[in-house]
Amino acid sequence: MANNLNNHIIIHKLAQDLGLKSSAEPVERIIAYCRKKVRELTGDFDGEMTPENVLPWLEGKLSTKFCEIHSDTALAQLVSHYCKRREHGFATLSEEFQGSTEGITLRLWHPELWEPRFVSVIDCRGRRRLRRYHTKWHELTHLLVLTDQMRMEFRRTHDLTQEKSAEEKLVDSVAGDLSFFPDLVVPLIDGDISFEKIEDIRVRMCPDASQTSSAINISKIWPSPCVWLEAKPQAKKSAPKGSVPDLRAVKIAENRVAREKGLRMIANFRVPPNSIIFRSFYRGFAGGEAIESLAWWEASCGTRLQDRLIRVQVKNMGESVQALVTLAA
Ligand SMILES: [Zn+2]
Repeated sequence: MANNLNNHIIIHKLAQDLGLKSSAEPVERIIAYCRKKVRELTGDFDGEMTPENVLPWLEGKLSTKFCEIHSDTALAQLVSHYCKRREHGFATLSEEFQGSTEGITLRLWHPELWEPRFVSVIDCRGRRRLRRYHTKWHELTHLLVLTDQMRMEFRRTHDLTQEKSAEEKLVDSVAGDLSFFPDLVVPLIDGDISFEKIEDIRVRMCPDASQTSSAINISKIWPSPCVWLEAKPQAKKSAPKGSVPDLRAVKIAENRVAREKGLRMIANFRVPPNSIIFRSFYRGFAGGEAIESLAWWEASCGTRLQDRLIRVQVKNMGESVQALVTLAA
């Protein structure tokens, strides 16, 4: 996703507006910019750096107020409360939440002297509750990259029936990064990576983050080479209708150290039948680990991955199997 965004004119414009040097990878630069800003804003914070403490701190620093909405009635009350105060931007909230939007930050035009300048409404109705932690980071990110009011207005006017705009996608990836802010996660990292350790960190750091996003983001921060992958049956695009789909590594996330050490895997490769990933999926066992060779992985055209010994830990998620691949030697 980041690759496509790096080519997007809106993202280059945003990087420029933020005063960042022009680059072929503006997304990385914007992420670094936001991390730096969060470090600055938490510079005088002296409590324990946990998300429960840091989020309210940033809320104050960025002059917004989170309003978690847990029911339709609560949403209607919020809308009526602000509309009575002539804050008419709130009037269309309910329609806006019908699309893919899970949070909205609005500027108050008639704030009380003591009030923050913005309100960040977080839709926590139904399953969206599980995403509220991410949504809060998403809304704070909008404020971190807010260069002028035009940007806020632009965001609200994009067609809700359309796919998310480039800027929304960017804000989502920055929020994903900040949800697992390395400064908060690194002190909790110890020894070899495992699903148990990721789960311990998730529960301590960000209990409402999903297990999948935690595995992806925490493995990215881990200081030793690691590739996280998710395997599920997926037919090749060119496959004839009705053919049985192969088990493939449909999603892959490698960390920086893995890239440096040449531990690379390729998305959409078929999972080798002798791999523990394959056995876990088809025999349904919940977890386990095995030492395997990377050279077992072969594309249909015959390309094989490098011959390296790898340690593969698996976790069966029911419809898919996730794996952590690390170097065995
Ligand atoms: Zn947004």
